[in-house]
Amino acid sequence: MATCEEGMNVLGMFNRGRDRHIGFYHESDLELSKCIECGQCVSVCPVGALSEHTSWRQVLSLLQSKRKIMVAQTAPAVRVAIGEEAGLAPGSVTTGQMVAGLKRLGFDYVFDTDFAADLTIMEEGMELLQRLKLAWGLEKSAGTPPPLPMFTSCCPAWVTLVETEYPELIPNLSSCKSPQQMMGATVKAVWCKRNNLQPEDVCMVSIMPCTAKKHEAARPEMGRDGYKDIDHVLTTRELGRMFRFQHIDMASLPKDSYDDPMGTGSGAGVLFGNTGGVMEAAVRTVYEVVTGKELPHLSLEAVRGLKGTKEASLQLQLDGDTTKTVRVAVCSGVVNARKLVEDVRAGTANYDFVEVMSCPGGCIGGGGQPKTKGPDVLQRRMAAVYSIDSNMHLRKSHENPQIKKLYADELGKPNSEEAHHLLHTKYHDRSTERGSGAVFAKEDAPMPEEVAAALHESNMPGPAAGWKFQPLFKPQQQPEAPPRRQPATRGF
Ligand code: SF4
Ligand code: SF4
Repeated sequence: MATCEEGMNVLGMFNRGRDRHIGFYHESDLELSKCIECGQCVSVCPVGALSEHTSWRQVLSLLQSKRKIMVAQTAPAVRVAIGEEAGLAPGSVTTGQMVAGLKRLGFDYVFDTDFAADLTIMEEGMELLQRLKLAWGLEKSAGTPPPLPMFTSCCPAWVTLVETEYPELIPNLSSCKSPQQMMGATVKAVWCKRNNLQPEDVCMVSIMPCTAKKHEAARPEMGRDGYKDIDHVLTTRELGRMFRFQHIDMASLPKDSYDDPMGTGSGAGVLFGNTGGVMEAAVRTVYEVVTGKELPHLSLEAVRGLKGTKEASLQLQLDGDTTKTVRVAVCSGVVNARKLVEDVRAGTANYDFVEVMSCPGGCIGGGGQPKTKGPDVLQRRMAAVYSIDSNMHLRKSHENPQIKKLYADELGKPNSEEAHHLLHTKYHDRSTERGSGAVFAKEDAPMPEEVAAALHESNMPGPAAGWKFQPLFKPQQQPEAPPRRQPATRGF
């Protein structure tokens, strides 16, 4: 439980001896707790007692019913970890076999979330540039200019943390949807139209390294005209279970390729799997768009590696002799994110752009990834992501031909009205719905009346007793133990 206690303090151990058990602080319901659904507790639970809400059986029956056109997308971090579910070593790259396995399961189309990661870079990169231009006085704003630093919004657990605990930072979040949601929106609104299909004819399934993506897909903002962008989200572990259930030996399958057009992604898109990857991908595009020159080195070493917080700065030569410095930071893990947020709030950290991923190492260490043990699992997955990028011909998001076509044919340009309608969203202050702002009080703080009443109704200990919790696993009633014999006193 240390995983949760360090950064979130949602789950904890309570009582002593035979009564020791796991429970939620204060809450009687996980939904109302300040849990950000990162799934880190699930991925480290030694006895498998904690689990994500699974949907793989539902997806399997949809595949077998053949009532809908079944479309899958696979996130960057899945391809370097799904092999572990098939008995391969961590860091084995099994992209082609995974696509082949998905086709065997019955998916009609398999698209690559890397395509949507490229789209995210176009939208988020241009949003950042717009904010910078306003901050540098190169453009005038009609209203209050959006604040800096701009925080990434690809990680739904981080977005939930901001909405519930740091709502004053909501304007700092990029308004871009995550790549998962951008893919869903593009498939249902653009691809369906191109192919004379109705969005309700299509079932969109995401394969993600992430448990928080399940919650993200269910958000009411994520869809339009009565349909959702994403219908089901499966974790990497669930996909592994599906393969085993259907006796598909993924590792031995001949490689297959993603389907066009949304199967085309760049090396920059793959980098989203690693902490620092969004930043590196954004720098590749922003630098070239602003300066019109090629970036001398594509690898941004300063933001690579598993260190929890990293920073770098980038010199941008604008028109004429003007040079501007863009200060960036990258952090992964909730503890590091909190520290960085506190520094930004205190004015001791001064950045323009900050990438935050809630899981250690980024999505490669996501709560939905295989539970492989070993000291270097994350390093191996991380190295595999970098090797995929370096072996690709297409390594920059703005050079992706299918992204160029999407803008030319349907969206106009990044951050256009059409792009905003489809690819951007709004966040909400949820500090009074859930989270520490209202429901979770520190041990000594007065407890809100409604929480005290709810605890009273559920026969929980009263407010004066300090932290309140609902046991996840209620201890069995045991007969009272006989009193311990006092050890005999021995003297000299
Ligand atoms: S999902 Fe994350 S925040 Fe929620 S209980 Fe587990 S570790 Fe804590
Ligand atoms: S870091 Fe990645 S896997 Fe972890 S919660 Fe965020 S999006 Fe999901």
